[in-house]
Amino acid sequence: MENLEYFLVKLDRWADFLISEVSYDVNHKISQAKVHVDRGDHISDGEIVDRRTIAHNIKKGKSYLTIYKTLTAWKKGEPVRTFHVDSEYSLRIDNNKVILDFLGSIPEIGAHKEEPPQIEEKPAPPKPEAKPEPQKEEPKSTAVSEKTVAYCVKCKEKREIKDAIQATMKNGRPAIKGTCSVCAAKVFRIGKI
Ligand SMILES: [Zn+2]
Repeated sequence: MENLEYFLVKLDRWADFLISEVSYDVNHKISQAKVHVDRGDHISDGEIVDRRTIAHNIKKGKSYLTIYKTLTAWKKGEPVRTFHVDSEYSLRIDNNKVILDFLGSIPEIGAHKEEPPQIEEKPAPPKPEAKPEPQKEEPKSTAVSEKTVAYCVKCKEKREIKDAIQATMKNGRPAIKGTCSVCAAKVFRIGKI
């Protein structure tokens, strides 16, 4: 029974070792890699190893696979192979027989980007400028005395309102009606007396 379980666990493994992060030197050879042990039911914490260790283990028949971290779990990458050209070798996940190491797009060691905080999809809060601003329609409300003044279309000037009365516009806003104190034409302005 124990043997069977052992077998099942063993069959469930992706590889002997899993590489989650890598760094390359100037010649694009692996300088270090973060390697985890695939224990079947879980993956060990990563350990930083050098290139020679990986190559040595592959030579001994151990298997390596790249893994990618997702938010919830590890994702299987590609098997790492060695290619020998003369006395040199490369560690790659593809079939390009070049003397450059390449482990795909796994992250660089130490280049830990903080996981961006998961921003919840929230409706944007209502913007303050959406509120109607009452004084918007009253461009000339700087001084108190302005309240008794209206633009007279005949004089083409601001005039004092004579016989001002409080009125209400169709939209319910208060208005002041009266006559021009100079030419007696009807004048009108928004606001209260
Ligand atoms: Zn006037």
